[in-house]
Amino acid sequence: MDGACTREASSAGSRPRCTGVTGYAGLEGWYVRLGRAASIESKPLIVAGYAGFKRQGHQGMRQDPRRRRFQAVLERGRAAFLATFLILAAHLLSGCGGNSPGGEKVRVAADIVPLAMICRQVGGEHVEVEVLVPPGSSPHTYELTAGQVGFLAEADLLVVNGLGLVPWAEDVHSRVGNPDLVVVEAAEAVPRDELLPASVEEREEGEQGEDREEGREHALYDPHLWLDPLLAGYIVDAVEEGLIRVDPGRAGYYRERAARLRAEMNSLHEEIRRRTASFTRREFISFHASWTYFARRYDLRQAGVIEELPGKEPSAGEIAALVDMAVSRGVGAVFAEVQFSPRVAEAIAEESGGKVRVWVLDPLGDLDDPRKGDYCSLLRYNLGIMEEALR
Ligand SMILES: [Zn+2]
Repeated sequence: MDGACTREASSAGSRPRCTGVTGYAGLEGWYVRLGRAASIESKPLIVAGYAGFKRQGHQGMRQDPRRRRFQAVLERGRAAFLATFLILAAHLLSGCGGNSPGGEKVRVAADIVPLAMICRQVGGEHVEVEVLVPPGSSPHTYELTAGQVGFLAEADLLVVNGLGLVPWAEDVHSRVGNPDLVVVEAAEAVPRDELLPASVEEREEGEQGEDREEGREHALYDPHLWLDPLLAGYIVDAVEEGLIRVDPGRAGYYRERAARLRAEMNSLHEEIRRRTASFTRREFISFHASWTYFARRYDLRQAGVIEELPGKEPSAGEIAALVDMAVSRGVGAVFAEVQFSPRVAEAIAEESGGKVRVWVLDPLGDLDDPRKGDYCSLLRYNLGIMEEALR
């Protein structure tokens, strides 16, 4: 732990903050369960062995006496196998699986790609990261697959954004039957006074929604934290602490890489501040309210939003109002997003008679695309497009 205050005060009101654990505002809010699941490598072997045995047992159901003898042998085999399985399971659950210092990777699941990037960048060669909402999908609407539930059942750490971004993510640990899974909610690491309120529509939806729960911040705050590199520094803190919790033997490794990533984010912030300062236009229309934190940090303005609630298309009247607003204020750019259809954005551009142009941003990125495959590349990718759009 460097224990240093790495966050410099910025013109937009960010406060210096310490990375020491004692100063860690969100720690009590984590869903943390100590202890670890059974050895990762032994579990799939047991499952595969059992499945293979069941297939043999089915063949033994025929009436042929030799088959019946074979079936009896199989039944004894099954009993012996079950006994072995139970002993092994008890052995593993008693904690003997523990954290192998010698080499297996920590299995990490992250709900969205930018968090997976941060997990990879902090965890380096010692983590295997699975992203739950794949590139090109919207976190607001994507549903988990059975295969992903399987990964979570064996995972060590689950990192979720929080604030209702992925509606199922904050409760998913209760569905996967893995009581040893450590869950980190990144938004918990961000001081409350850094958070922006969600749009009115999102708050109303949260208040009326079926999943309203006591104490839940769902829909109260805007969840798109990672698009502000200074707030992303808090996400790095959360990931660092989560990794150390599940793999304390490598604490030094994770701390060093986390500190390096925070330093990169700080210089990225300086670069974005410098480059956005030269924009000649500061207003844009956004597909949904994803760039609010970014806009606040760099003195830009989301003058309008096409979908106030992701997935809820605007009416013809709302589109017309956006076009009028854009033309009267001289807003020349509408930012579509790769995760959603550009149709409405294109309709706005068309209605404006060419005064508004469509640009496609990607707030989430893609681990396999080198242009936007790690955190800083992702922000630079979007910054480059904004630079063209708002110059
Ligand atoms: Zn969003």
